[in-house]
Amino acid sequence: MWVTRFAPSPTGFLHLGHVASALFGWRYAKPGGRWLVRMEDIDPQRCRAEYATAILEDLDWLGLKPDGAALYQSARMPAYARTLAELDRLGVLYPCFCTRSEIAREQAGMFSAPHTAPDGSLLYPGTCRHISGPERARRLAEGKPHVLRLDMEKALALVREKASLEAEAEAEAEAEAEAEAEAEAEAEAEAEAEAEALPARSQCGHSPHAPERTQGRRGEGQQQARIGGGTEQDHFQMKRSVWPLVYEDLDRGQVVCTPELFGDVVLARRDVPASYHLCVTHDDAMQGVTLVARGEDLRPATDLHRLLQALMGWRTPTYVFHPLLCDAQGRRLSKRDGAASVREMRAAGMTPEAVRAMAVFAGCST
Ligand SMILES: [Zn+2]
Repeated sequence: MWVTRFAPSPTGFLHLGHVASALFGWRYAKPGGRWLVRMEDIDPQRCRAEYATAILEDLDWLGLKPDGAALYQSARMPAYARTLAELDRLGVLYPCFCTRSEIAREQAGMFSAPHTAPDGSLLYPGTCRHISGPERARRLAEGKPHVLRLDMEKALALVREKASLEAEAEAEAEAEAEAEAEAEAEAEAEAEAEAEALPARSQCGHSPHAPERTQGRRGEGQQQARIGGGTEQDHFQMKRSVWPLVYEDLDRGQVVCTPELFGDVVLARRDVPASYHLCVTHDDAMQGVTLVARGEDLRPATDLHRLLQALMGWRTPTYVFHPLLCDAQGRRLSKRDGAASVREMRAAGMTPEAVRAMAVFAGCST
């Protein structure tokens, strides 16, 4: 039973691509699981409340009723601020005062061709990472506009170190348990030898060791029960500090992450004190999403989200990706390309069943 979520940005009416994505997650969640709706509306320039309302109405018309009220990211800024404060405490954030053109100029001086992250954004050359503490403080005090970037190198080092410390502690505990078991076996063997050597004592000499042995076994049993019978939360906690970072893809199995390809990503924008990567990872964790079902275009970003989970100690959901919708010419379909909105299809007299069927059949693999 999965908890999935449908997370549109209310920048327009619901279109066929949305419906396909919504249905994709719905099929995993139903029956038995939960299907949540989240409005990814942190961008005040592009998102509009009336679109959010329209999306919810159209989902309702399609028969896709969310389990619980829709969550609005724009109302959760204090939670994102707390996450940023925690990342800052870990020492993996720094302010960047560069403009986009400055980044492009800096890049041009460093490389012959523009370097981009897997999501197509310009790879940040790290200029502001090297600003001295006092200079940084001066610029912040002056109120110079800035974004907050993740120091990728530091973040990776921190996660790697945490994983190695935990692995060490685990190995130590295992070695201790082994040594204990050995000592116990030795004591037992000694007792047996003693009993054999002194047949007169064998009637009572054996017994003092028996409780000890039982106790040892009970101890082991308790430990196994704790691990085997642990809650889902425990299971995820155990998997958090692994290196290299991995996540589970329903179709591909375990995937090894390479978040370093993104460089020092922006976690808090200049205009909004948050970012897509920050909010989506935070909310998936806080909403208890167990299966993130989303478009193939977001596959690379998952590596980055996995890193944020490791830094924050959040549980890692399972992931599954759906192909993006195409038109008859095999081009990706989106509202920018004039894909028909559910609203238009409704007005044209289509039934919810027909729209749902169309969304399913329009899938393609590009
Ligand atoms: Zn900068």
